[in-house]
Amino acid sequence: MSGEKITLLYSDEVNEYDFGEGHPFRGHRFKIFFKFLDKTLHKNTDFEIIPCSPVEDKDLLLICSEEYIKYVKNFYELAYQGKINYLTALGSNFISIDNIPGQNCGNIEKAARVIVGQMKKACDLIMEGTFKKIVSIGGGLHHAKPSFGEGFCVYNDIAFAAKYLIEKYSLRKILILDTDAHGGNGTMEYFYEDSRVLFIDIHQDPKTIYPGTGFTWQIGEGAGKGFTINCPLPIGACWDSYEYVFQNLIFPITEEFMPEIIIRYGGTDPHWNDTLAHLGLTIADFRKIGEFTQQISHFSKGKVIDAIASGYNEKIIGPGWLALISGLYAIPFHIEEPENFQKNRDIDTFEATKTMVRKLKENLKNFWKSLK
Ligand SMILES: [Zn+2]
Repeated sequence: MSGEKITLLYSDEVNEYDFGEGHPFRGHRFKIFFKFLDKTLHKNTDFEIIPCSPVEDKDLLLICSEEYIKYVKNFYELAYQGKINYLTALGSNFISIDNIPGQNCGNIEKAARVIVGQMKKACDLIMEGTFKKIVSIGGGLHHAKPSFGEGFCVYNDIAFAAKYLIEKYSLRKILILDTDAHGGNGTMEYFYEDSRVLFIDIHQDPKTIYPGTGFTWQIGEGAGKGFTINCPLPIGACWDSYEYVFQNLIFPITEEFMPEIIIRYGGTDPHWNDTLAHLGLTIADFRKIGEFTQQISHFSKGKVIDAIASGYNEKIIGPGWLALISGLYAIPFHIEEPENFQKNRDIDTFEATKTMVRKLKENLKNFWKSLK
């Protein structure tokens, strides 16, 4: 064991972030991770877990409308009691169909507040200098918008972190790096016209997957033009594509931006055998994402908030999430791919990625000297 001790923010209530039977986002996914963690690392010496409290309405008002908070609080309370009216829910202006829980769901709204609470704590602990790096397990609910919940996301904890860092700590240069397989439409919307937040998102081509946004031409508007960067990858894209985007785009832009803090999020849904997405990463590649985040943290004086929640193949959650974390903290961790992957490096996919990067450089060259 070398390097810093891993600090995880996690509270038992997060298990209640469970959309119930028949839904891909289940609470026991977190238990799977912690079981794997306990088996693999030593509690207290290798890692510590800090529990957090739910945030109050006044905190949520930083990212949500009052009407939305009122609606979801009531809606998920009824769902938790098994008294949900599906027909009413389907016609709701506040949530999408994939945010409607199935039977025996958990106390989702309360859990969502705890997840935002973890982000608040992460910001405070880093800004007070207690830690350089911190990981929120359950965080990264990037599809949630100010008055609309979708894509299994109720409150956008990432948007909360950036807004909170701007408000409380007067930060003016925040890098958000989204490596989830799906485009972070909620996070993008929050900061589309805001130059204080540089949002870089690498994901599966939105023409082939939910949420259907996150194209190269979406680069922000007004003062925020040039500060939203979407890197869509073709179906089946492997590590060579990621590495190309990291080295040719994300690294130079981060060096030029010099963020005061980096918020990276995304779990293991870019894995080749995920049940919801169709990218091509292996467990070992998730470690490389962690290592890359660690590398670019040289530009943010080491400050990183990391958040992990996605990944819908349950065999991948334990080793995949730990691979992300072990890369970030530069700790040794023996990686085994739980399923046999016949990796065929696909030249067409790699070529498509290079074309995408060329397009992005063209769109962004007036905003970033490093891309000229
Ligand atoms: Zn996802």
